[in-house]
Amino acid sequence: MRQDPSEIIPIASEPFRSILIFGPPGSGKGTLGKFLSTAGNHFHLSSGDIFRGLSPESPAGKLFHTYAGKGHLVPDEVTIEIWKHYVGGLIATNRYFPHEQFLLLDGVPRTVRQAEILDQYIKVMKIIVLTMDNTEGLIKRMQRRAIIERRMDDADEKVLRTRMQVYEKETLTLLKHYPSELIVEFNADQRPLEVLRDVLIEMSYFLSHSEE
Ligand code: ADP
Repeated sequence: MRQDPSEIIPIASEPFRSILIFGPPGSGKGTLGKFLSTAGNHFHLSSGDIFRGLSPESPAGKLFHTYAGKGHLVPDEVTIEIWKHYVGGLIATNRYFPHEQFLLLDGVPRTVRQAEILDQYIKVMKIIVLTMDNTEGLIKRMQRRAIIERRMDDADEKVLRTRMQVYEKETLTLLKHYPSELIVEFNADQRPLEVLRDVLIEMSYFLSHSEE
């Protein structure tokens, strides 16, 4: 279901200046995004949060549960369509101010196709990649979090392993879509504050110069 570019409704006059955050499931990208948004008055937008916020009874919510329940990605066109409507709503309700804030995107794009579609809406300023080689540690961390946050999709080990594989196959490949000079890697196998410290040292210029 490819979209004819002429049908696309513009949601803003200029592309949103965005910082992308990548990392395997459980690497702490959501926590980092939340920290950075508070620290610099940026807007943190997590695709997982958008999807989990959909009513389970709605067609989009049902679709999400079908895919997420198996650890698979929601199809690209639907994902970006939901994302676009959500961002449009944030702007219309004065929660996200594109001219003053960076968009900290966590969890989207996840595939090359999503990155291609998003090119018309976002201008990527930097890409933060959280690296973590310890897959077994990640899986244990997520199972603990699943119980605390009642995220039952995170409790099943088979589903978790599928998500790790999807990340390595799809998401890491998509980094090639962007110029390598935008990409900065951070070791996420540290305490959250240590990861935050490394990111702030590297990114403080960007994070503090978003206002025009
Ligand atoms: P993770 O903990 O794997 O980073 P998220 O909380 O970001 O997961 O997302 C949970 C689920 O939501 C994913 O497994 C997937 O089914 C769906 N999802 C989130 N973002 C996307 C996306 N950009 N494209 C397709 N599916 C997505």
